[in-house]
Amino acid sequence: MPNLRIRLQNKPFKHYLVKSSKKIHGWFAWPKRECSCERFLLNPYNGCSLGCFYCYSRALPGYFQEFHRNGRVFVFEEFDKLVASQLDSIDIGFCGYLSPVTEPFQKIDKFYNLSAKLVKVFIERNLPIEFITKERVPQEVINLIRTQEHSFGQISILSPDSKLNRLLSPGADLEVLFANIRRLTDQGVYSVARIDPILPFISDDKKGLTRLMTRISQEGVKHVVASVLDIPPRIKGYVLTKIARLFGRHIKDKYLSLYKEKIGYLNACIDYRKEVFGFLRKQADSLGLTFSLCMEYESQKGNIIGLNKQFSSALNCEGLNIPIYKRKGGRFYPQQGCRGNCLSCSEAVCGIDELAYAKTKKPLALKYSDYRRFSKIQTITD
Ligand code: SF4
Ligand code: SF4
Repeated sequence: MPNLRIRLQNKPFKHYLVKSSKKIHGWFAWPKRECSCERFLLNPYNGCSLGCFYCYSRALPGYFQEFHRNGRVFVFEEFDKLVASQLDSIDIGFCGYLSPVTEPFQKIDKFYNLSAKLVKVFIERNLPIEFITKERVPQEVINLIRTQEHSFGQISILSPDSKLNRLLSPGADLEVLFANIRRLTDQGVYSVARIDPILPFISDDKKGLTRLMTRISQEGVKHVVASVLDIPPRIKGYVLTKIARLFGRHIKDKYLSLYKEKIGYLNACIDYRKEVFGFLRKQADSLGLTFSLCMEYESQKGNIIGLNKQFSSALNCEGLNIPIYKRKGGRFYPQQGCRGNCLSCSEAVCGIDELAYAKTKKPLALKYSDYRRFSKIQTITD
């Protein structure tokens, strides 16, 4: 594997260029389906130059272990072309998600520009695309997504305190993040703020959260997504050591007392989480914003219950309701009659019953082969 060095901001940046044959796929909605898991997940990079200590991708296998241990970033060569050829082989479309496990606009993207290239691939086909970022959104990307009615941007901000935000998201500039929301709003793009994750005893004070909610609302955000930090067991020691080093041993000890639950990952006690979510939901309501949680569950007598049922004020975890798209010639168009609410949909006018969660109650783990299979299904409104 060649080890490449390029100069970025006048510093050498070490990275690895690799070939990929990855297929587009959706989330594995486990243990309950609470999110828009039909999205096309897009990771042009593995590993991330921000290197947040709690990043759950540190617990993933493969290249992510090289990222976790040695800070290495892997670039998937010509990933945009690979995705384009797969999109051209299917007749139904969902929103692209850039990126679930890496920062799309991280340092290396300034050289390879793969994220903007991917956005272009979607917009040229009139398919929606969203991004989630802690970096400055390139203007080229805003220019593209503002032309597509269901495309949007998510900005991740963990604290209204610039020092703390920088500790939690190294390299992220708080004012740039607020400016991202303003720039999206001013250019007619739907924007979401992610306070995700909230770190107990570090970024959970109510005054700070109130300040943050007020500011993002003033900048024009429409929807807020929150979560409390979950810790993958595989990196528990690493995360707690970092917390002790950055915030003191007493905070680490508090974590040891609070993290008593386990639903896949280690979770903060449910009472603590519910209090934080109840507080944020009230704040969102009073500011006229919609609100949802990301991957938050509780265990009740062995049953896993999704907390969005109790705390979300939106039909979708990311706020915007995006219909399924269908191909007509070289472009895709929204399916007539689809409200973009798969989670609460009981009548699948798209013809694909397994997407309608209110009907099937089944989790979903979509693969490229499923998207190909769906392409052959006749919609009810055709
Ligand atoms: S910016 Fe996102 S992907 Fe990058 S290290 Fe932080 S949490 Fe992980
Ligand atoms: S018709 Fe219902 S199940 Fe089909 S894509 Fe739309 S919301 Fe989802």
